[in-house]
Amino acid sequence: MKYIPYGRQSISQEDIDAVVDVLKSDWLTTGPSVKNFEKAIADYCGAQFSVAVNSATSALHIACLALGVAPGDYVWTSANTFAASANCALYCGAQVDFIDINLDTYNISVMALEEKLEVAEKEDKLPKVVIPVHFAGQSCDMRAIKKLADKYHFYIIEDASHAIGGKYLDKPIGCCEFSDITIFSFHPVKIVTTGEGGMALTNSAKLSQKMQLLRAHGITDNKNLISQSEGPWYYEQIELGFNYRITDLQCALGISQMKRLDQFVERRHELAAQYNMLLADLPVITPYRSSDSYSALHLYPIMLDENCSKARRDVFESLRAANIGVNVHYIPVYRLPYYQCLGFQQGHCPNAEAYYDKAISLPLYTSLSDTNQKYVVNILISSLCS
Ligand SMILES: *Cc1c(COP(=O)(O)O)cnc(C)c1O
Repeated sequence: MKYIPYGRQSISQEDIDAVVDVLKSDWLTTGPSVKNFEKAIADYCGAQFSVAVNSATSALHIACLALGVAPGDYVWTSANTFAASANCALYCGAQVDFIDINLDTYNISVMALEEKLEVAEKEDKLPKVVIPVHFAGQSCDMRAIKKLADKYHFYIIEDASHAIGGKYLDKPIGCCEFSDITIFSFHPVKIVTTGEGGMALTNSAKLSQKMQLLRAHGITDNKNLISQSEGPWYYEQIELGFNYRITDLQCALGISQMKRLDQFVERRHELAAQYNMLLADLPVITPYRSSDSYSALHLYPIMLDENCSKARRDVFESLRAANIGVNVHYIPVYRLPYYQCLGFQQGHCPNAEAYYDKAISLPLYTSLSDTNQKYVVNILISSLCS
């Protein structure tokens, strides 16, 4: 059996042609494709503004900076996420803390968030920004989180790296109804890809302008922003920005991929439904679906349940030995050595740890064939039941 990864891109001839067209054009970077890609995603999501960058990590960084995150501030995110959701706050010199998850959705627990906010208020350590992560593509309880944001005055950045193409309360994730900024990732394992790439969406003209500046060195020739003009060549640097630009080549791929986004997510749903059926009698917990959201299904994480006599490690290794690229999403971020050195202790988020101890992400991607999916299931069955 050829290697079956846990996730991978799906590239069509149309995608290839779109990139080749840009190679033959006048613009390799910051040309019309960047604007068109930004517009395609903003239109799809129903957000007013979008800023395309070279990764979701960069998008998280400039989102934090645009919201004013600085030394002395606190930023909170889910314990069950990729390190980038927390690193962005450290880049700004802020302190990070982690919120525990629900054991059904594996998203941040609103109850845990509320309790933590009550304590933080007493200690005068309320967060400036909370970054909910739509784990595996399923939205967090954004309505409840927004209510807490209004009460405790924090900003919200949705880390929707897993979630483009998903919906919450029948609206596309990315519309920013319950947040200040939403970010997406276009890494090849995610739902749509640009190779590397990310985007920040917002309904605030001010935040959008700030993020556009930060993406390109903080330099502008916009007459509304510069203090004077010494001539037609004149520009000013008014922020300490970065080179976080994405290329036209990448955006052409992104535009082409967006045409198939709904198809991609539908196929993921089809495969997930098949997994649900095929795994129904096994000692595993399949992903929970919350009724208020339509998941983009970036991942299909299962948990070994209490009836399972096998160790997660043995099951995982059997799958890997059969050339199946299963993975674990995620090691709680604060358990990574860099974060341990910041003083985080084991047991900080018990649910995230309990989930981590039993989790395995099975392969799920658009081009996964039914045959290969059945192969994965058969190996899983034999490893659980042997
Ligand atoms: C992939 C991912 C990121 C980072 O995305 P890049 O585009 O690779 O920078 C951030 N947060 C989460 C939850 C992710 O899964």
